[in-house]
Amino acid sequence: MVREILIWPHPILKQQAKPVARVDASIRTLVSDMFETMYAAEGVGLAAPQVGVLHRVIVLDTTPRQPESRPLAMINPVITAMEGELTYNEGCLSIPGESEDVDRAAVVTVKFLDVDGVEQTMVCEGLLSIAVQHETDHLNGTVFVDHISSLKREVIRKRMKRVKSEREERVSPRA
Ligand SMILES: [Zn+2]
Repeated sequence: MVREILIWPHPILKQQAKPVARVDASIRTLVSDMFETMYAAEGVGLAAPQVGVLHRVIVLDTTPRQPESRPLAMINPVITAMEGELTYNEGCLSIPGESEDVDRAAVVTVKFLDVDGVEQTMVCEGLLSIAVQHETDHLNGTVFVDHISSLKREVIRKRMKRVKSEREERVSPRA
């Protein structure tokens, strides 16, 4: 099921997500809904808080740009090592139509549980490294515009206000 993606700024997008205690059927349903939602929006990553769920769950699929990669669901992801520097022009499904250069680590090591609840460790490079850092940020209430200048952020905030009011008009037409 495709879920609604929250638009920044939104109070839920500023909160810390809670660790998943047990990888059960409800988490697997969340993961499958998140994949569906991400693909429908043509994104490469999505974090549970973006669909209003404060659980530490992210999904990623960078295969269009990294054919050697594969779709990934990470539960309780923790970045355990960071190396190098990489500046990447990032966007976010919660901040539609915007992109800005963000400085990140070039390579990250991430530990997580897969959908079977099995612990995995993965070294991520390139777009996947960027996406893991971007999505784990979401679990800590941070979005990419928190990494840019406040001047640019405020301009984007104004544009998102317009996006939100246009959406509301579409969802609830006035009588
Ligand atoms: Zn995002």
